[in-house]
Amino acid sequence: MSSFGMTREEYENLLGELASRDARCLNPDCDARLSYRASQRGRQALYCDDECRRSTWRRRRSLRASLQAVIESHAMIERPATAQRLRAAEAKLRWLLARYPSDPSAGDEDFDSGQADHPPLSVIFARMDDDWTEEALADAGRFDARMRLKYLNRRERPVPTTPTPEARRRAAIAREQRLEVERLVLAFDT
Ligand SMILES: [Zn+2]
Repeated sequence: MSSFGMTREEYENLLGELASRDARCLNPDCDARLSYRASQRGRQALYCDDECRRSTWRRRRSLRASLQAVIESHAMIERPATAQRLRAAEAKLRWLLARYPSDPSAGDEDFDSGQADHPPLSVIFARMDDDWTEEALADAGRFDARMRLKYLNRRERPVPTTPTPEARRRAAIAREQRLEVERLVLAFDT
């Protein structure tokens, strides 16, 4: 290889090599070989036929669904098997799935991330400002109820966002102190 681009000879060699190349059907369970269409017309075949293409996606979808179910099972209180066996099943499913093409249109969802549980903004602001309004408390209550339901049979549960009476008292004191400091600063400035 030259340091930049290629020489005519290298290019001719590449052409010769490419001309004799074919490729396997993208279905991991299919051994068919496909030849590249040299003419510009029509799409290049990635599968030997439509049925092979469809069955590839069906199989991939079902493997992914199984993987998702196995991963979720880790988090259940009543696991269908020991954690070790679940991990073994997960590893094998990932091993099988590594052979499947990823869907360029649907993108590759990340299994482990799942749906994040974000508390409502009113709750986040109430925490930041140490100011639990009735509205923020109601939002926190609804959010906690939803999380209780979602995590009903999981091993780990998120910490409730609704503040305990003690936490509310501390928040009120902290807020009062901060306001007092702000008043002092203002008085000092004028
Ligand atoms: Zn095929």
